[in-house]
Amino acid sequence: MRKRQSVELLLARGPAARVDFLAEAKHIEPEMIRTRRVIHEHPELAYHELETSRLVAKRLESLGIEVRREVGGTGVVGILRGAGSGRVVALRADMDGLPVQETSDVDFRSKVEGLMHACGHDTHVAMLLGAARLLSGHREELYGTVKFLFQPAEEHGGRGGAMPMIEDGAMKDPKVDFVFGLHIEATRKSGEFGVREGAIAAAPDTFKVRIVGRGGHGSAPHETVDPIYVAAHVILALQGVSARMIDPVRPFVITVGAVHSGTKENIIPDLATLDGTIRTMDEATRKLAKRRVEEVAKGVCRTFGASAEVEFEKDAYPVTVNDPKTTEKVVSVLKKIQGTKVRKVEAMLGGEDFSRFLQKAPGTFYFLGSRNPEKGCIYPNHSSKFKVDEDVLKFGAASLAMLAFEFGDPRGPSQVR
Ligand SMILES: [Zn+2]
Ligand SMILES: [Zn+2]
Repeated sequence: MRKRQSVELLLARGPAARVDFLAEAKHIEPEMIRTRRVIHEHPELAYHELETSRLVAKRLESLGIEVRREVGGTGVVGILRGAGSGRVVALRADMDGLPVQETSDVDFRSKVEGLMHACGHDTHVAMLLGAARLLSGHREELYGTVKFLFQPAEEHGGRGGAMPMIEDGAMKDPKVDFVFGLHIEATRKSGEFGVREGAIAAAPDTFKVRIVGRGGHGSAPHETVDPIYVAAHVILALQGVSARMIDPVRPFVITVGAVHSGTKENIIPDLATLDGTIRTMDEATRKLAKRRVEEVAKGVCRTFGASAEVEFEKDAYPVTVNDPKTTEKVVSVLKKIQGTKVRKVEAMLGGEDFSRFLQKAPGTFYFLGSRNPEKGCIYPNHSSKFKVDEDVLKFGAASLAMLAFEFGDPRGPSQVR
């Protein structure tokens, strides 16, 4: 157990913000880039982040940080206790890669066939390890406790990686007061932070419609119930949910991304299935949209004598909602980082399971731009050519360390809550 100094003594040391985290981040930049490249060469799919989590745990231990392994599967939690008492601040990085065959021109290209860090989660891990190193060097000036959450399976959807980690106690013991997560964004200019108060990412609800008809000969459709014909009507009618049933000022998207049916041109099959996704930014619209999708699909099928089963995936990610007061303070912290800009962003209709951490503690999910045409970093996240401007890693690491430092300080957060 570390000896705890009195808050009075620490207060006498002056404001915590004296530490120049950006200067220190510049110092460890080569190490962060090396780490990022090692992870980039060895991407691992959701729930299989074994090597990555081993690397993370080893690195944290080498910094003298308490480590909990296998939290919710392959998750790792690091715990750094500051000398002064204060708040518990959690910082999160996701670790999983994507089933994408890399075609970028970097010389540290993925060595795993068909897998790639195409969403930049390798940079998230490197930046958070960087922040851990920065913070571990300032334990004596640090108030409160920092928890480093390295989570699996963000790209998986459904239960994802945050939920199993939370169920395994990641947000407890000690209980987290604030939580922050950073995402690299290839469509935003290098060194530009993107922040937003309130809803910032959507609830992505996946659905499946099973249209049950009655098959037969292609030359005698009147003796059948053609599920392909019905499916075509259902696809068109579902757009009516968006166009005619949801308040147009509320963001809503519906996409049918997969249609499966049939084997041969002269056979009317028994069955057609549609796979789709809806995206909403608030719970009321989400509930209404799910109900309407089911009603419309079933109603159209009934009209043509088919029947429909509509199923929404259980455990879809919730809306990602940034706490307004916390986020206001986050913006003021980010603005201190020289060489960067802070911009208010529009909400995006992608989903993020950081939302689940935000249901447990107030906090902020924010973006860091890495688009740099001069270096060919112009392809969006999830592209096989996705490429990150590594010059921004230092900004990300510094920002995470600063947030932990400022929000851990009982004098700071008390003003924002
Ligand atoms: Zn992604
Ligand atoms: Zn991502």
